[in-house]
Amino acid sequence: MVDQELRDKYEVVIGLEVHAQLKTKSKIFAPDKNEFGQEPNSLTSPITLGMPGVLPVLNKEAVNMGILTGLALNCEIPARCKFDRKQYFYPDLPKGYQISQYDEPICVNGHIEINGKKIGITRAHLEEDAGKLVHAGADGLAGSSYSLVDLNRAGTPLLEIVSEPDMRSSEEARNYMEELRNIVRYIGVCDGNLEEGSMRCDANISIMPKGSKEFGTRAEIKNVNSFSALQRAIEYEIDRQIEIVEEGGQVVQETRLWDDNARETKSMRGKEDAHDYRYFPEPDLMPLEISREWVQRIKDSMPELPNQKRARYKSLGLSEYDANVIVEQMGLALFFDKVLELGATPKIAVNFIMGEIAAYLKEDHIEITDTKLTPENLAELISLIEKGTISNNIGKQILIEMLKDGTKASVIVEKKGLSQITDEGAIKEIVQKVVDAHPSEVEAYKNGKTNLLGFFVGQVMKETKGRANPKTVNELLKEIIG
Ligand code: ADP
Ligand code: MG
Repeated sequence: MVDQELRDKYEVVIGLEVHAQLKTKSKIFAPDKNEFGQEPNSLTSPITLGMPGVLPVLNKEAVNMGILTGLALNCEIPARCKFDRKQYFYPDLPKGYQISQYDEPICVNGHIEINGKKIGITRAHLEEDAGKLVHAGADGLAGSSYSLVDLNRAGTPLLEIVSEPDMRSSEEARNYMEELRNIVRYIGVCDGNLEEGSMRCDANISIMPKGSKEFGTRAEIKNVNSFSALQRAIEYEIDRQIEIVEEGGQVVQETRLWDDNARETKSMRGKEDAHDYRYFPEPDLMPLEISREWVQRIKDSMPELPNQKRARYKSLGLSEYDANVIVEQMGLALFFDKVLELGATPKIAVNFIMGEIAAYLKEDHIEITDTKLTPENLAELISLIEKGTISNNIGKQILIEMLKDGTKASVIVEKKGLSQITDEGAIKEIVQKVVDAHPSEVEAYKNGKTNLLGFFVGQVMKETKGRANPKTVNELLKEIIG
């Protein structure tokens, strides 16, 4: 570990390359289904297998998703883009090349804003994913082991989103990655699951002396599959590079693998340069012309983005913290929006969602959609509270039952006789009874211990099982003993 004083001598520079798997129905150049978790090699046509003479056909849905993502990332969508072949050999790439976009990508010059700072997005381009090697390990024969090839993933559409080297700390990189994930999830193009690899991140990291204008040599870190691993990997890499430089050495440009168990990066290979791949225009695909009308149509279909959602929640009176927490959990945000659409008061809804509901979900490690609670039922519960039919506390109590069984609030209230007692005469009787039963407390109250009021309210609530209207109870108590 490098100490803080040494750290302060250096500035850290980070740029991220993020691959997002697009949720199209079929693959980017073939009709095979784009699905996860199927029987190995069951989603493979001759095109995906790279048989001689087959021709790729571009999937329009993948292009639509690319444009939509670009617009959400404030990118320009050039009127023309094209596809190129990137040549390399690997057993999970039967064609011997990957169809990608080299010098004319579908999206350029974007940014996303994180805590008021703009992080530039150089480009985003469409490409096909490779297959997967399944390392089967020792097969029982002495000393032998083998790997199997599963080509189901081959041809899955990817959007590679390349940032500018604009980030200056591991925390900033994490925030960027989290926001990027929020965006692709909210616009529905990618499920953003880092653990399953539907969103993958390569982190480019370099250091330079503070105040320097010239960036240092970068190392590229692969194999980070959680947000916390990303942050750990960057922290490790910063220290490693500082130690090299402090000892008079030089950082080499290379690809390193993060090992989250060992908590270190290991050199994997020297970094290829673009010319190593012998890029050339894909002869089987025409350059793609994207009309302004096409872009406009997609712009018009843009759903609300995470930062717009946060701003709207804040304008409804939610705290910055609450707005952030809800937007982070898309299921919860969509649920909250439906409850609002049904006319519920935001303040009461957010208190339930951030309080009882969040606690319930956390305890069972589940999502709101795994419960039986519907937006309609929560909205009804809130309206019962607003109308004064039940108290807020009773509302909290029955919410658990609603989460578990999906019962309507009005049904529970009816069945258990939970409606609020608003009849003053009835409450007055109970208040009088409580006062009569506690003469010494009344005495103390009269002698100035006014905080005993809470005690009396509590007793009345106990008598009425929480059903008395608290406001009326308070007023009557003051009237009777005050
Ligand atoms: P390649 O595709 O070969 O990895 P790119 O030019 O596309 O190269 O850059 C990849 C990423 O590296 C980008 O996100 C960019 O911001 C980042 N990057 C470039 N130079 C540096 C540097 N000196 N330090 C940190 N990141 C860098
Ligand atoms: Mg790269």
